Amino acid sequence: MWISVISLFPEMFKEIIKYGLINKSIKKKLLNINFFNPRDFTKNKKVDSLIYGGGGGVILKAKPLIRTIYQAKLQMQHHVKIIFLSPQGKKINVSCIKKLLSYKKMIFICGRYKGIDERIINNFVDEEISIGDYILSGGELPAMVLIDVLVRNIPGVLNTISSCTTDSFFNNGLLGSPNYTKPKILKFLKNNNVPKVLISGNHKKIKEWRLKQSLGMTWLKRPDLFKKKILTKKEKFLFNKFKNSYLKKR
Ligand code: SAM
Repeated sequence: MWISVISLFPEMFKEIIKYGLINKSIKKKLLNINFFNPRDFTKNKKVDSLIYGGGGGVILKAKPLIRTIYQAKLQMQHHVKIIFLSPQGKKINVSCIKKLLSYKKMIFICGRYKGIDERIINNFVDEEISIGDYILSGGELPAMVLIDVLVRNIPGVLNTISSCTTDSFFNNGLLGSPNYTKPKILKFLKNNNVPKVLISGNHKKIKEWRLKQSLGMTWLKRPDLFKKKILTKKEKFLFNKFKNSYLKKR
């Protein structure tokens, strides 16, 4: 995957590329990431201007952005998709991530101030992506969120593909099941035992237990997601088991 980021503050990205999976994917040459600052494509470093119609506030001007986009495209050549990080965009979710993963080459435009000139959106942008219904000061943090989520899902980045397919949301539209590690017992804590099935070595039973927990956790924590899920016969059976034992304990 090749991502070019257009931002007034490319230095903000310096840290995230030093750590974790993003760093690993760069080292493994699974991700190529570079940065373009629209200020570098102006004569006087001025990239913003007052909005027409008054009301206060500035936006990023079209011309420096156009020059920056052309420069990024020139390096990346064919089949580049342009993504504008915007609170007005489609809210990021699993199907949107899967679509972006298929693009391979992308330019992320990070807005600032009151945003960017609408003509950039109309003429250049393929997708507008939002990370949620709230307003941040710039597109840099949303771009970092998007880079992180994409990188986790590039084949070869995670050691075992199961470690991302069993994560919440990617897990068949359900939340992931609870996980435990050593020690088996934590003294002085309530509910301190690791569920027996997880240390039984019976993989079929473990798989079933995990599915039952995923169904139950989704029902308890994200009823909105659970409502959308069409359950198979087996899932219905496991969910009823979870629900009955949960209601009994209350
Ligand atoms: N005036 C814009 C509006 O009402 O839609 C908001 C501009 S915001 C202060 C500045 C920039 O931050 C946006 O252009 C966008 O790039 C980025 N941004 C802010 N919130 C965002 C969100 N929830 N998702 C993605 N990008 C966001």
